[in-house]
Amino acid sequence: MTVRFQQSAPATFKLAQEKDWSSTRIAIRGFQLRPKVYVTRLLPEVAMERINSFCDADVWRGELPPSREVILRKARDVEGLVCLLTDKIDAELMSEAPNLRVISNCAAGFDNIDIAEATKRRIVVGNTPDVLTETTADFTFALMMAAARRVVEGDRSVRGGGWKTWGPMILLGQDVHGATLGIVGLGRIGAAVARRAKGFGMRVLYYSRTRRTEVETELGVRYAEFDRLLGESDFITLHVNLSRETFHLIGKKQFEKMKKTCVLVNTSRGQVVDNMALYEALRVGSIAFAALDVTEPEPIPADHPLLTLQNLIITPHIASASMKTRTEMALIAAENLIAGLKGELPLHAVNPEVLGHC
Ligand code: NAP
Repeated sequence: MTVRFQQSAPATFKLAQEKDWSSTRIAIRGFQLRPKVYVTRLLPEVAMERINSFCDADVWRGELPPSREVILRKARDVEGLVCLLTDKIDAELMSEAPNLRVISNCAAGFDNIDIAEATKRRIVVGNTPDVLTETTADFTFALMMAAARRVVEGDRSVRGGGWKTWGPMILLGQDVHGATLGIVGLGRIGAAVARRAKGFGMRVLYYSRTRRTEVETELGVRYAEFDRLLGESDFITLHVNLSRETFHLIGKKQFEKMKKTCVLVNTSRGQVVDNMALYEALRVGSIAFAALDVTEPEPIPADHPLLTLQNLIITPHIASASMKTRTEMALIAAENLIAGLKGELPLHAVNPEVLGHC
């Protein structure tokens, strides 16, 4: 393991491999050993300051993510990694990073990381849920409203000189108030969307792996089997995490069960929806409209068939992108990293069993 000193000590210092340095921050003759970490994108200043206060951080400063080769090379001699959902942290990478003890993902989702492999290697993985829940729910509602009331088409029409007069039949949309909303995945964000929907006087159905009777009582939302939700909802919004079970959860069969007037909103992960089935459903009118913050792949290529459709809104994965929330996410990622390097349980650990917690 290579460690560096905080002050003007010799640049690097080799420590015996067999020694357990898990509590890190070891003081030797007034110097503090600083764990080496790699940060795959420049984060807000407060988070970088926090990371730099404890670690010897190497930071990728490019606007685009570092290449696979760069991450593999940089991970080789670090103890901690701060990464984003654009970085694939898999078994190959972990096998080439013998000192790695903490992976801190600056995102709520962690489908970019092989959690089973990390757990096997006793690498603790942190994420940043909760803090982005309300911001993501706000954006989900923004997409739903924009789709229902054709906000983007209206803007395009005005800019393109298409607005000639007030017209009784121009850009007619659908009412959100009083409509039925189907929430797929009633976790943190799903429940926050349900709360907003009740404020709009919507009837709310949900389908989720685990039934949440306390949310049913608190918000008056009703559990429905998946097919029933698909058939009865005017708006369907997806909030499941991406997994083997939720990959292409919404495909051809599911679109066939939806109302022709249905609006689909996805702020979860792109792979939850089969893109080509969505394209076909929107093209032939099996559903009316879709609004996506996430796609498969990301970014979606400019010549993708979906982008030829008018009854679709796509935003560039920005549901959590408020200044306050992104700063808080980065700070939590920094704290998760530092706690893990100290051998303590991070505020949000995906695999706490690595540190002896369940
Ligand atoms: P969460 O609290 O873990 O909620 C996920 C919900 O999905 C849980 O209730 C879970 O059930 C349910 N679920 C999982 N697999 C399912 C299945 N096969 N069938 C039905 N329900 C299933 O997560 P969250 O914080 O709400 O976030 C949800 C996802 O949103 C994240 O994983 C992330 O991918 C995405 N996200 C995107 C953005 C963005 O910028 N667009 C921002 C934040 C989050 P259990 O209760 O049984 O686990």
